Amino acid sequence: MDEATARRDLIRICHLMYERSYVVSSDGNVSVRLDDGRILATPTMTCKGRMAEELIAITDLEGRALNDQRASSELAMHLLIYRERPDVKSVCHAHPPHGTAFAVAGLPIDQPILSEVILTLGCVPLAEYGTPSTDELSNAMRPLVKHHNALLMANHGAVAYGSDLWQAWDRLETLEHTAKIAILSRMLGGSRNLSADAVEKLINVREAAGYLDPSARCQACGYLHETSLTCPTGDRPIPLNIDTFSHNGVGKISLSREELVELLIQALHTSH
Ligand SMILES: [Zn+2]
Repeated sequence: MDEATARRDLIRICHLMYERSYVVSSDGNVSVRLDDGRILATPTMTCKGRMAEELIAITDLEGRALNDQRASSELAMHLLIYRERPDVKSVCHAHPPHGTAFAVAGLPIDQPILSEVILTLGCVPLAEYGTPSTDELSNAMRPLVKHHNALLMANHGAVAYGSDLWQAWDRLETLEHTAKIAILSRMLGGSRNLSADAVEKLINVREAAGYLDPSARCQACGYLHETSLTCPTGDRPIPLNIDTFSHNGVGKISLSREELVELLIQALHTSH
């Protein structure tokens, strides 16, 4: 992507972010990695609704300033994602109300409720709370960055990333839309999840169409354990499917047989 297009699209996304109430005041930040490795980023303490091209900060991959604008203090989380994921060229971080409500309630967005979301985004895990702009937050996010395309940060907000600015933005929008639908369905008595068979078919479709590659089978979704699909790299994070968001009962914990066995094995290991 050429720099002029990146600058223009970054500003458009900042304005969309503010207009859609994904951020207020100086919340949130957007960045893009150029082909030469430089990072264009939103500056610190600037409202995204008033963002303009002359305010864009430029840094290297270590966050060192390459112009006279100071990048957001949250740039560290963007740089972590760029380092962990060479395929990622853009990162969007915001506090969209419905997605952030999940993050505040301590819930991932990981139930199989919408076919389109399984096809294009997959699961959105919850990273433990870490103080913004510190290693605490980066350390909580690091294990989740590799296999997911968007994350929730406990008591903070959401981040999505992709191969260009628009894919990162689209994923953030899908996250927020899914969270909103999940909350609304809860008000109607709870969501009816897709069956393991339906999930498996959708995952086969998304791989055949190239929406997500097979490594997305390693995402932290409880429902993947109910299918016959296996994680090709063998390092799927163990999801605890805390079922506080279904109509089955507040606070009920449901585990598949495989998850229960894994937990028991872990418990045996730690008791030695
Ligand atoms: Zn934030």
